[in-house]
Amino acid sequence: MSEPMFPTLDEALTRLASTEHLLVALDFDGTLAPFVDNPEESRAIPEARDAVARLLEVSHTTVAFVSGRAVDSLSRASESPDGILLVGSHGAEYRFDGVDTHPPLSDGDRARVATLSGVLAVVSSEHPGTWVEAKPAGFALHTRGLPDELELAANEAARRAVADANLQVKVRDGKDVIEFSILSVTKGDALRHLRDYTGATAVLYAGDDVTDEDGFAALGEGDLSLKCGPGDTVANYRVASPADVAAVLATLAQERAATGR
Ligand SMILES: [Mg+2]
Repeated sequence: MSEPMFPTLDEALTRLASTEHLLVALDFDGTLAPFVDNPEESRAIPEARDAVARLLEVSHTTVAFVSGRAVDSLSRASESPDGILLVGSHGAEYRFDGVDTHPPLSDGDRARVATLSGVLAVVSSEHPGTWVEAKPAGFALHTRGLPDELELAANEAARRAVADANLQVKVRDGKDVIEFSILSVTKGDALRHLRDYTGATAVLYAGDDVTDEDGFAALGEGDLSLKCGPGDTVANYRVASPADVAAVLATLAQERAATGR
């Protein structure tokens, strides 16, 4: 058997813990919080909350939640620990140090948001059990709890209606949700912005969904990408569940604190 090309996850965590300024960026749903049918009831598991709290206590260490949720929803679900940076709507909304910002919309963008709103309202009314969530620069059509065939029908109807309206929008598939956004930001843009904002010298990003792949792809040498659960990924490491992510974060917090920072 040949030697592994990459260090083990434990070795990579030890190296990460020694960096000058560490950014720990984390998706929320499916990564820190198990999936539940009502997204408003979603909460991080206690082990993940404890590990995040310990990381927040270490100096030269920043923790951010980077979610597809609107930032208000992310703030409620994550119970927004003191000092955390929040990124909502895949990078279209920032809440840093209590200040909300997002990339500006042009008049043309705003007109397209209004058209999109009307189109998706019709689709949702024709597909009972779906609901539309407003995002700063678009909308999400939720299908959680629907049987697969009804979910598929709603997704296809929404794609067709948006295409027929000739709107230049970015379409994102998630778990039980399809999103249409005027702003073409991704979690990769969010991670680049966070790296600049914090001056981080190394970044960990953990996520479970297809939209997290943009985040993983924005990382480089000296960073650590961690995929939670099954599915294709460009991440360098993989664990099975939020409990495993919490264990990784606990190890990182312990090693980071032990560096004396
Ligand atoms: Mg997720």
